[in-house]
Amino acid sequence: MAFTIAIDGPAAAGKGTISRAVAAHYGFAHLDTGLLYRAVGARMLDGMDPVEAAETLRAEDLDETTLRTPDVAQAASKVAAIGAVRAALVDFQRAFARRAGGAVLDGRDIGTVICPEAEAKLFVTASAEVRAERRFRELTGNGVDTDFAAVLADVKERDARDMGRADAPLRPAEDAVEIDTSDMAIDAAVAAAIAAVDAALEESQT
Ligand code: C5P
Repeated sequence: MAFTIAIDGPAAAGKGTISRAVAAHYGFAHLDTGLLYRAVGARMLDGMDPVEAAETLRAEDLDETTLRTPDVAQAASKVAAIGAVRAALVDFQRAFARRAGGAVLDGRDIGTVICPEAEAKLFVTASAEVRAERRFRELTGNGVDTDFAAVLADVKERDARDMGRADAPLRPAEDAVEIDTSDMAIDAAVAAAIAAVDAALEESQT
């Protein structure tokens, strides 16, 4: 059975944590599609043409430990605005979405472009300040030297680029369930996501 859960939203809204928890809950495979763009961004920072980087992306380029830096995040959102980069990554994501046994994909355009036929669509959001606060704690917790104002500026810059691009801009699908996690503990956000997916599962069985 193919059952796709599309989880979109801006940076640091809680998508990653929610997606992992939802995938574990249903026993579905999970793909963090941001990692694909981060890997392309990292290869561009190493001097490679971004389109070539996307077309020749390999599994070993997806090493999460090296891709979670602010520089790579900014590079990712720059290469993500290039249509040929996005096009090179579509087939892999679509095949993953429709794999047997169910899939959770999180990103920016999963419910709108990659898998508009997804059975469940969530749009996870939070205020820029709350997202910057979370990202700041995560970065400093990982030993990255930064300050809150820089992280907030970074979040806002990426939001503007991701929402303003011509190709697959960040926006909720019309039929997405929105979850604003600004004032929610993570457990409550996960519970809200699971409730929305349960409702979609029930609907798909009728
Ligand atoms: O989610 P994450 O912060 O890892 O994504 C990094 C960047 O990759 C985003 O800012 C966005 O520009 C891009 N991206 C995208 N489409 C996706 C996932 C990520 O454009 N489906």
